[in-house]
Amino acid sequence: MTIYAASVVDTPGDPFAGDPAAALAQDGALLVRDGVIRARGSLAALRAAHPGEPVTRLDGGLLLPGFVDTHVHFPQIRAIGGLGMPLLDWLEQCALPEESKLADRAYARAVAAEFLDGLVASGTTTALVFGSHFAPAMDELFAAAAQRGLNITSGLVLSDRILRPELLNSPETALADSADLILRWHDRGRLRYAVTPRFSLSASDEMLDACAQLLGKGVWFTSHINENLAEIATVAGLFPGARHYLDTYGRHNLITPRSVFAHNVHPRDAELATLAEHGASVAHCPTSNCALGSGLFPLRRHVEHGIHVALGSDVGAGAGLFLPKEALQAYFIQQLLGDAGLALTPAHLLYLATRAGAQALGLDDRVGDFAVGKEFDAVWLRPADGSTLAVNLRHARDTSDALARIFALATPADVAGVWIRGQNAAGQDPR
Ligand SMILES: [Zn+2]
Repeated sequence: MTIYAASVVDTPGDPFAGDPAAALAQDGALLVRDGVIRARGSLAALRAAHPGEPVTRLDGGLLLPGFVDTHVHFPQIRAIGGLGMPLLDWLEQCALPEESKLADRAYARAVAAEFLDGLVASGTTTALVFGSHFAPAMDELFAAAAQRGLNITSGLVLSDRILRPELLNSPETALADSADLILRWHDRGRLRYAVTPRFSLSASDEMLDACAQLLGKGVWFTSHINENLAEIATVAGLFPGARHYLDTYGRHNLITPRSVFAHNVHPRDAELATLAEHGASVAHCPTSNCALGSGLFPLRRHVEHGIHVALGSDVGAGAGLFLPKEALQAYFIQQLLGDAGLALTPAHLLYLATRAGAQALGLDDRVGDFAVGKEFDAVWLRPADGSTLAVNLRHARDTSDALARIFALATPADVAGVWIRGQNAAGQDPR
């Protein structure tokens, strides 16, 4: 058992549902036993109630729930930074040539390690990971994630047209390989499986039907939608009978409470209504949307329709794995939208980077905040003495203001410690 003495901040409430400030909570200490939070409160209260328990002091900075990334591509960790292209050109020139290399299992093993170590170093402890087109590469990812104790939901990426030939599978092979992977990895420790057609642009009705056959075993579903206008027009041409992009998935019953759709930058109202009706979530990927010039995410319309929105880094189109950077970019985008935007507070940003993701992934009974009974997944952001962030934290008026300065200034260099189910996974030895 350990008492962590820290500036503990989380969002037990939903800032989109009421007063954002009321969604935020701060305490001075957490009592953790066997990786689970057993008590929270002031340091004095926890010490009095549990005398003799060791105290780990995390002085300075903030201790936050481990970040939750709901859209990130593991095969693209070596392909970040391809600037100056819209989506379809970027896929062709940057992403897909790199993804083809994961046919080599040793290459995939190295990439999986770099990817997962990158997540941990960025304070991300839970992620919905867009997988590889190759089943052995998925075995490597799942094995490496199990070794690190991370909460990873992922699956084999399925496509049967338009992409480079080595990335294509028949619906029959897709079914067989996915079923094998589900047997081996789904619900094993903190791992879960997600059925993952790349997007309906590269997945025929037959392939989407195979995807539907794989659901119903408690597995998750994820794909892309409405990211870019050229993509949307191409999908419309490929599915002349579909009412809109979402309908290409809906016709195969792929819109469920266990479905997470990435982007949705250009939705129609009918699509928003359908997403809400089926309880599906949307992964908003702000730096990717800006880098590819995809558009400004209509967060207000999503919230007004009652759709659950979380954050994704969308590496490699996104500009890195650090979720606070995505939260800051989400804030910028809403500012640029003016009256159509939704002004985000520090409580919104923390919620989007943590608990909103846990809710989108159905893991909010286990992670996403520091409620008693939840698993201790945490990131300690503590800037170097004398850094601009340290100066700003020293002058913060209150918790909300301190968070604002964290989101404005923090980088992965400020990650001083990461805990995965109570295990210290990265960073300095706490003082
Ligand atoms: Zn993506």
